Amino acid sequence: MSNPPEYANLMETLVALCKRRGFVFPSSEIYGGLNGFFDYGPLGAELKKNIRDCWWNDMVRRREDIVGIETSIIMHPKVWEASGHVAGFTDPLVDCKASKQRFRADQLFFAPVIVDDAVVGYVSALESDRTAGELQEAAENFKRKRAIQGKLAPVQPRDMTEAKPEEIPLIPSPATGEPGSLTPPRAFNMMFETQVGALRDASSTAYLRPETAQGMFADFKNVVDTGRVKLPFGIAQIGKSFRNEITPRNFIFRSREFEQMEMEYFIHEDADWAKCHREWIDWCKGWLLSIGLPESHLSEYDHPREKLAFYSKGTTDIMFKYPFGVQELWGIAARGNYDLSQHAKFSGKPIEYFDEATKKKFTPHVIEPAVGVDRIFLAVLCAAYAEEAVTDDKGNTEMRVVLRLSPRVAPVKVAVLPLLKNKPELVARAQDLHRRLKRKFAVFYDEGGAIGRRYRRQDEIGTPWCVTIDFDTIEKDGTFTLRERDSMQQRRIREEELFALLEDRVF
Ligand code: ATP
Repeated sequence: MSNPPEYANLMETLVALCKRRGFVFPSSEIYGGLNGFFDYGPLGAELKKNIRDCWWNDMVRRREDIVGIETSIIMHPKVWEASGHVAGFTDPLVDCKASKQRFRADQLFFAPVIVDDAVVGYVSALESDRTAGELQEAAENFKRKRAIQGKLAPVQPRDMTEAKPEEIPLIPSPATGEPGSLTPPRAFNMMFETQVGALRDASSTAYLRPETAQGMFADFKNVVDTGRVKLPFGIAQIGKSFRNEITPRNFIFRSREFEQMEMEYFIHEDADWAKCHREWIDWCKGWLLSIGLPESHLSEYDHPREKLAFYSKGTTDIMFKYPFGVQELWGIAARGNYDLSQHAKFSGKPIEYFDEATKKKFTPHVIEPAVGVDRIFLAVLCAAYAEEAVTDDKGNTEMRVVLRLSPRVAPVKVAVLPLLKNKPELVARAQDLHRRLKRKFAVFYDEGGAIGRRYRRQDEIGTPWCVTIDFDTIEKDGTFTLRERDSMQQRRIREEELFALLEDRVF
């Protein structure tokens, strides 16, 4: 029996589980995959849909002040000029001319190797949770291999955006280990371009949206004119976004095609934006807890003032402790009235709100909580994964893999299992229950193999409950055995109780 993986080493195990059980596959795998693109298998598609549905229900349907929309992925190219994406949605890119690999300059770290106060060479490493340690080891190796005598100074890591022009030819490429092949950083626009219509020229260039937010700003007037909304109110949307990330990594954490759930909450220009911003941070945190993320893995990061865009009043990210480090999960930005003003300017059409009380027109300000479905998906799996030793009736100990998913997001809510598959009366009763349950819930019917093995299969995909139809069900009181995933405890339950339990815990 091997030891369960440490949290920091969980990714390999999780990626393997996702593949084995049909949660996530590399896209176009039969052709070798395509870096930064993923497919969601039968269980993954259910889990993802549950995350979306929970968000939509809580954010839109259960609130009076928020409406949902769905806008097109390809919008008028002027949208992206107005939003600043054409000019400024760039990441600094460094090419390695020898290997043809590309790196994000702010993720490629280097340090001079300093021995007795003299620079004797350079080392480099890609960003990880132990970049400084790797650079220190690389510096020690550098000195040893060249048999340089003297005292090595502790390394001072910098990233490539901070490299001086004369340093660049001396920094080794992480791809080859040799200096001389890295280019100076240059701005790389991350929007995917495409052509609309049969003519291919500059006038037909359009973009796959890099965020869903601009759909809400561009449609602001339409929603105000038709939606019977009054300030403060929000417009929400779920949809695909595309970014030509230079280095997609960490599985589905940073991909090139992903899904966002964004909401623009419009407030009066004189409203207390800081209070509203805080309320939305708390709402988002509360929502993450409601789908089962543990509070211990969540934290907040306030973007420093000097790094904010000129129009931004403040941005706070809700961070999640992933196995590969603490990373942004949900960004909550106070964006002033920049976006609506820009669209008014670029379209030449006023975008204003008429306040009945004061009879004044103004451009509302906005608070924007923006989150990625795929990042939530990954966070949910990381937090849910457990391996534990269990002892069966015969005293044998074995490892069980269990995904402790919240019933709200679990892909299968309940598995229906006839105790024996060669007893027609048990099978008929189980199939009958299965038929009625599946009208409302995602359920799974399984009659193959020993009952213990069937429970394990459900544990591994995070099914919160199993019901077993046995002889007591058909010969006595009609009750089933309900087996609970986390405690593995079993009790008898009536059909109405089962429906009530699911109703209460799933939605
Ligand atoms: P990062 O700094 O990680 O690139 P960002 O600050 O550019 O993210 P936003 O533009 O604020 O991200 O996008 C809002 C949300 O969309 C992020 O908090 C994240 O959950 C999600 N997201 C952004 N880029 C990606 C990506 N490449 N893959 C998956 N999700 C993403």
